[in-house]
Amino acid sequence: MSTPIIEFKNVKKRFGDTTIFSDFNFTVEENEIVSIIGPSGSGKSTLLRILMTLEGIDGGYINVAGESLWHMHWQGQYVPANSKHLHKMRNHLGMVFQHFNLFPHMSVKRNITEAPMRVKGVSREDAEKSAEKLLNLVGLADKANSYPNDLSGGQKQRVGIARALAMKPSILLLDEITSALDPELVDEVLDVIRNLVKEDSFTMLLVTHEMYFAREISDRVCFFDKGAIVEEGKPEEIFISPKHDRTKAFLNAYL
Ligand code: ADP
Ligand code: MG
Repeated sequence: MSTPIIEFKNVKKRFGDTTIFSDFNFTVEENEIVSIIGPSGSGKSTLLRILMTLEGIDGGYINVAGESLWHMHWQGQYVPANSKHLHKMRNHLGMVFQHFNLFPHMSVKRNITEAPMRVKGVSREDAEKSAEKLLNLVGLADKANSYPNDLSGGQKQRVGIARALAMKPSILLLDEITSALDPELVDEVLDVIRNLVKEDSFTMLLVTHEMYFAREISDRVCFFDKGAIVEEGKPEEIFISPKHDRTKAFLNAYL
């Protein structure tokens, strides 16, 4: 097997006295689509936020695309990453959040062009061209000049996906992107992801409660509980013949 594009080695993470990860090991291969399922409060969002460098770690190593995420190589040694290194590493990843996290005071178009222009130095003209294409892709070409508050939840989340893609990430992180939506809006968002992976190869790490979607889209499904992967395997292994009692109990609650 090739070098994994994401690698957690003995990662430790605490919030105050609460340990979230005591020794977390996990890898994702390039172009692999991995779903993480599991109870709330178990550390799933923290896992994605650490990858996105929105949260730090208290020990261990994480490599993304062959480079250390939180440390950089300097004069033969690994030292804590500086902001330039973190910026560079962040460019590998795009994240879509449960609660959209759109900028409410910016138009839809501006939400999408802001990061490429500000972080990557892309020209306004190029950023807007790319935003138009992305809005077409998510079926919102007519909403470029609307503001987030004028959109439905499903539309907001489709903007969230377009915004993440605008940075051309090699890895896409999706954190329960349909959990805040009314049921009738879930599929319009999932369809965008379905189409994305049909058109292109992606490395994708998604946390989801939509079990049918995890089953349909994933190469591998991981059942995660209390800061550890309890069980992982092909979708049919996890959903049809889970081995661990905790996985069975969790999945039973969805039947
Ligand atoms: P999940 O996404 O699986 O529901 P989270 O990763 O959001 O779980 O949270 C794991 C645990 O860490 C929870 O107990 C949560 O309350 C706690 N936690 C998450 N973020 C913070 C934070 N910034 N400060 C303190 N505790 C946090
Ligand atoms: Mg979460």
